[in-house]
Amino acid sequence: MDITKLARKTVREFTPYQSARKIGGQGDIWLNANESPFENHYQMQNIALNRYSVCQPPQLLQAYSHYAQIDCASILTSRGADESIDLLIRAFCEPETDYILYCPPTYGMYSISAQIAGVRCKQVPLTQNWQLNLPAISQQIEHVKLIFICSPNNPTGNLIAKKDIEALLEMSKGQALVVVDEAYIDFCPQESMIDKLLRYPHLVILRTLSKAFALAGLRCGFTLANPRIIDMMRNIIAPYPVPVPVIDIACQALSEQNLIRMKAQVTTINTNRAWLQSQLSLLPNIKVFDSASNFLLLITPKADHLFEALWHQGIILRRSAIDNSIRISVGLAEQNEKTIALMRDHLQENNH
Ligand SMILES: *Cc1c(COP(=O)(O)O)cnc(C)c1O
Repeated sequence: MDITKLARKTVREFTPYQSARKIGGQGDIWLNANESPFENHYQMQNIALNRYSVCQPPQLLQAYSHYAQIDCASILTSRGADESIDLLIRAFCEPETDYILYCPPTYGMYSISAQIAGVRCKQVPLTQNWQLNLPAISQQIEHVKLIFICSPNNPTGNLIAKKDIEALLEMSKGQALVVVDEAYIDFCPQESMIDKLLRYPHLVILRTLSKAFALAGLRCGFTLANPRIIDMMRNIIAPYPVPVPVIDIACQALSEQNLIRMKAQVTTINTNRAWLQSQLSLLPNIKVFDSASNFLLLITPKADHLFEALWHQGIILRRSAIDNSIRISVGLAEQNEKTIALMRDHLQENNH
């Protein structure tokens, strides 16, 4: 007997998420997963690990509360923002009955988590300039419990207009939660929806230490929402979701001194992004889009050739679902310079 026949049908038929790490590659310049290029080193302070961790460690909530300027009762910490997506779907969506709604092209994990949970998806594509199609969302909103909005959006890099998110919050009152994924908001903190949390009890904000805080390997994220939503998520989260070493290092990363370092690194990345964008826009046959995050999206007629040419030279970029697109995470100045130089060589040899 084929033992895999015992698995759930959805699981048997499931196409797993192709993370940048799974796709692999052999490179020395990794610009494919929107990680930070800064290697900040940490030393663990509490090394005794014989005790379980506290489910929602107060010192970590306080540290993030201080950074985000929001009450601890409105914060949940989890294994990355990805776990929060999963918890929200399991807490709010009845399998086979309720829907989530999201707006492609966008982050892949909303639909992945929904599929695994047996929850259906409605897709309302972004408009041509990658903004919300509010009339179409309004038509689709029946049976929807969660609406995922990613701003700045991955993979396009642009912000979703705040006034549109507010209109969506008005439209969805009493019907669905609006989950704003702010994984990249630390690159443009003034654009956060956090100041709307008190006004809209059905607004949920996702945050992470994986991008601007340069801690993708730590696996630490935060959900910001009305305390009643946070309580429900606390009720279903695993008993010990945040390992003791993670608590220790996340608290260090959120110290006054390290917040200053993070902000300085964000300034550098934003400066490097502007340089990378200006250089890309000078290359033949490339259209590059404005970004509020730590990556850029470009479109070029022979994207697969360009992607492969750089891959073979050890520069690992990311393809996205958008035709002929390549997503490039902003690296250190010398990495960006080498990327531009190799792209220029390739395009001059091949593209006319
Ligand atoms: C990277 C990313 C996440 C995942 O964050 P983790 O905290 O590493 O799980 C969530 N949303 C978006 C849009 C991302 O790009």
